[in-house]
Amino acid sequence: MLPDDIQTQVLDLLHHRTSRLADGDPVAEPMVSTSTFRLGDQPAPDAIYGRYATPTVQACEARLAAVEGAPSLLFASGMAAIAGVMLSVLKTGDRVLVPADGYFHTRVLAGETLAPLGVEMVTVPTREMLGADLSDVALVLVETPSNPALDLIDLGALSARCRAAGALLAVDNTFCTGLLQRPLALGADITLASDTKAAGGHSDLILGHVATVDADLMERLAATRKFTGAIPGPFEAWMLSRSLETLELRLERMCRSARSVAERLASDDRVAVRFPGLADHPDHALARTQMHAPGFVIGATFPDRTAADRFIAAAGCILPATSFGSTHTSADRRARWGDAVPEGFLRLSIGIEPEAPLLSAIDRGLAAL
Ligand code: PLP
Repeated sequence: MLPDDIQTQVLDLLHHRTSRLADGDPVAEPMVSTSTFRLGDQPAPDAIYGRYATPTVQACEARLAAVEGAPSLLFASGMAAIAGVMLSVLKTGDRVLVPADGYFHTRVLAGETLAPLGVEMVTVPTREMLGADLSDVALVLVETPSNPALDLIDLGALSARCRAAGALLAVDNTFCTGLLQRPLALGADITLASDTKAAGGHSDLILGHVATVDADLMERLAATRKFTGAIPGPFEAWMLSRSLETLELRLERMCRSARSVAERLASDDRVAVRFPGLADHPDHALARTQMHAPGFVIGATFPDRTAADRFIAAAGCILPATSFGSTHTSADRRARWGDAVPEGFLRLSIGIEPEAPLLSAIDRGLAAL
């Protein structure tokens, strides 16, 4: 069950358009596909050119703002959102701290694309971030839970450390979305996400967004998006608006089933399970206070690669695919992408299938090991 304030925000998300409709207006969000606007003497800044803003992108941002409880800016992908943050706040001579065990393209962006511009990347494992040296660090970017190992970091404690050191804290909240975890309420300066995952939720779009209550920062982010051209087209924004209406419903089923699947897998001693909702997760206590639910992603280590592949094949309704957060349960063997995990490690993303047949599929997979 979500806290009361988040339930109110879900209500706002669902009704912010309908409550403003005049008689005869379409109930559904119209999709406006335009690159240009008729210009008067003093055009509004958001009605000049489609690379600056479009009505459908703004409508989606209003829904994201309800999810985040803060002004939000849509980007063409999660990576575009991360790049937008880095380009907006970092300058030559700055250091940026990123997780050694987080999403690998974030490290590639900081370590390869930004390094020649004089930005130094420092990597620290998620569980050691609180003790990291923050001198000359302008930006700390964390993921909690981390992708793919599902380690957590205490965002309240980290934001206090960052504030004392003069560093900005950005949280990649892709795993949770603003409905399961509120980094801004815990003191972060910026929250961002790949909406390609649970927010989009149907494996059919690539998008991302950034949210912050700092108006100056938001202005810089909007300028970066404008000048790098990282705004999405209206169709993707329209699809995300539609998906956001069912986000809470989907998350509820996914999180409930994920707990059952994690418990079922953990009852088999050939599988090592990592799930923040299980008592043996090293950060279980933190997960209970920091997250509204422990999520829908499970780390499951099988004895070896063959066993992991056999589990997926025998289960029958576990899609071998990368990414996570979709309606379908899927599994990604992360060692194939170079993550520092065992060959038999699967990142399982639990979908919205009814729980009983899903658990039967898990049983079939386990029986085939
Ligand atoms: N952040 C995390 C935690 C991710 O897992 C991903 C993609 O897998 C990204 C960011 C990048 O998102 P996108 O693929 O939408 O650019």
